[in-house]
Amino acid sequence: MRFENKTAVVTGGSRGIGLAIATKLAKEGANIAILYVGDENEGIKAKEELSQYGTKVEQYFCDVSNFEESKKVVDQVIEEFGSIEILVNNAGITRDKLVLNMDEKDFDAVINVNLKGTFNMIKHTYKHFMKKRYGRICSTASIVGLTGNAGQANYSASKAGIIGLTKSVAKELAGRGVTANAVAPGYIATDMTSVLPDKVKDAMKAQIPAKRIGTPDDVADVVAFLCSDDAAYVTGEVIRVDGGLAM
Ligand code: NDP
Repeated sequence: MRFENKTAVVTGGSRGIGLAIATKLAKEGANIAILYVGDENEGIKAKEELSQYGTKVEQYFCDVSNFEESKKVVDQVIEEFGSIEILVNNAGITRDKLVLNMDEKDFDAVINVNLKGTFNMIKHTYKHFMKKRYGRICSTASIVGLTGNAGQANYSASKAGIIGLTKSVAKELAGRGVTANAVAPGYIATDMTSVLPDKVKDAMKAQIPAKRIGTPDDVADVVAFLCSDDAAYVTGEVIRVDGGLAM
C-alpha cells in the first residue's frame, strides 16, 4: 500500500494507459481524481471500476489544453480531496501525417494537448507541491520523443518537449522534495494504436526485442514506481517502457 493517504490526479484516466495507472495507484491505496474530455459514460464506468478498491475516486471533465479550465479543476480537486501528492500527465492525442500534409491545426492540436496540457497541469500544482515540500510528477512521453518518427512530427515534438519540460521542472523542484520524471512507452495496445493497420502492427511487433506488444499495465507498473517513495532519489529521469524497441 505505497500510496495510502495520497491523492493522485491522472489526466486521461478513464481509459487506456491512464486507467491502468489509476487502477494500479488505487489498488495500492491512492485516492484518485481522473480527468477526462470524451464520453462521460467512460468516466462514470472508470469511477465505478476504481471505487472497488475502497479509496475516494472522483471524475472531472477537464480539457488539459485549456489553461483556465485545468486551473479550476486542480483547485477543485485540492478543495475536495484536501491535497494532491501525485500528478500523472497521461492525456495525449495523435494527428499522424507527413509534414507535407500536416496543416497548422494538426500541429497545434497535438502540441496543445500533449505539451501545453502537461505544462498547464504542472503549473497549477507547482506551488501546492512547493508548499507541501512533497510531490511526484510523472508525465507520459514516448520513445518517438527520443527517436523521432516519420509521420509523427507534431507528436514527436510534443513528446520531446515533455522530456525537456520534465527535466527543467525536476531541476527547479528537486530541493523541495518534489520529483519530476517521465516514461517513454513504445508500442502499447490501446485505442490509440488499435487504429493502425494490421500490417503496420505486425511490422512493429517484429522489431520489438521482447517480441510482444506492451500492455497498459507494463506502463502503469513503472509509473507507480516513479510516483512512490521507492523513487525518492530519482528525478529528471526518462524510463523507456518499450520491450527494448528504442534501444
Ligand atoms: P488513448 O487514446 O487510449 O487515451 C488517451 C487519453 O487521453 C484518453 O483518456 C483521453 O480522454 C485523454 N485526452 C485526450 N485529449 C485530452 C484533453 N484535451 N484533456 C484531457 N484528456 C485528454 O491513448 P493511450 O492510453 O494509448 O495513451 C496514453 C498516453 O500514452 C498518451 O499521452 C500517449 O501519447 C502515450 N503513449 C501511448 C503509446 C501507445 O502505444 N499507446 C505509446 C507512447 C506513448 P477521454 O477518454 O476522455 O477521451
